[in-house]
Amino acid sequence: MIELKNVTKSYPNGVHALNRVSLAIEDGEFIYIIGPTGSGKSTIIKILNGEEVPDSGLVLVDGVDVGSLKHRKVPYYRRNIGCVFQDYRLLPTLTVQENIAFALEVLGISKKEIRSRVDEVLELVDLKNKARAYPNELSGGQQQRVTIGRAIANNPKLLIADEPTGNLDPEKSLEIIALLEKINQLGTTVLMVTHDIVLVEKFKKRTVTLDQGYVVKDSKKGGYISL
Ligand code: ADP
Ligand code: ADP
Repeated sequence: MIELKNVTKSYPNGVHALNRVSLAIEDGEFIYIIGPTGSGKSTIIKILNGEEVPDSGLVLVDGVDVGSLKHRKVPYYRRNIGCVFQDYRLLPTLTVQENIAFALEVLGISKKEIRSRVDEVLELVDLKNKARAYPNELSGGQQQRVTIGRAIANNPKLLIADEPTGNLDPEKSLEIIALLEKINQLGTTVLMVTHDIVLVEKFKKRTVTLDQGYVVKDSKKGGYISL
């Protein structure tokens, strides 16, 4: 699904955000990326979604050589990747169902198809009863479930979640992780950047640790603290 080979990225200010990072992620994996602030986690995400271009190295996502993608092809490429962020980024003037539908309308599929897919997604994220609510009428946990629904509406092969539980209390965080697990079990590869070590310890998955732009640990069994 994802292959990074010797990926190096520095910013114009001279900061080396990633140093010869190599990482292979299989189809259907659920993987955490952890590490202190400034360790390069966001830079990996930006490279994967075509926002930043690596200085050197190879980035393959589902067969696409992302590093050499033409600028105008990036929006098409992004359709295959769902993204979820710490801040929910919902459109405040649209209802829950409209927010999810909006993600599908740009794809030029029929109204009927959109309606049935939105219903499926609402069922999956357990928000059928909030379909006509506006984002500001929802709790944080509910808003994050909407963004996850929106991100997967198009059935992307890869879901990238950047600190999806960052603004949620532990109980709501568990709900979000359970939902991501469900989506993973339905076949979507999930890559989650997180600071939440409690969650990483509890829901053990493959865990890649970054430090100063280097992969310093890649633990297949999951679990942050090695005893
Ligand atoms: P993390 O997500 O782990 O906090 P980042 O990938 O955001 O790490 O940052 C890695 C390093 O690159 C940090 O030292 C950060 O200050 C630097 N950095 C990130 N984005 C930029 C940018 N646009 N311009 C300059 N430096 C940046
Ligand atoms: P969840 O378990 O989905 O995160 P909460 O337990 O936080 O939801 O909220 C319980 C109920 O209160 C929900 O039905 C939600 O719609 C409602 N609610 C939460 N926050 C707000 C708000 N700011 N405005 C209106 N209703 C809210």
